[in-house]
Amino acid sequence: MSSQKPKGKTPSLISGQNGRPKRVTVGKASKCHRCNSALSKGQTCIAIPQTGESFAKEKRVCDECFKLIIEQTLRDLNEIQQL
Ligand SMILES: [Zn+2]
Repeated sequence: MSSQKPKGKTPSLISGQNGRPKRVTVGKASKCHRCNSALSKGQTCIAIPQTGESFAKEKRVCDECFKLIIEQTLRDLNEIQQL
């Protein structure tokens, strides 16, 4: 009986109180926050919650940009893993 298990749910570095990115359907034509490409009504995009802002605020990015963001996130995670 010597092993101690951490208690509770394992926390994640990307599950902040503002939530995590999610795929949403575009209701009103808008533009990608990063590359300004058109997000037309009916297509889907990724909504990224803004930390430190009101909970209603979120950035919308197209699939292409989201892919790049994920790649950067993975690079960051790899770095953190070396700690
Ligand atoms: Zn974009």
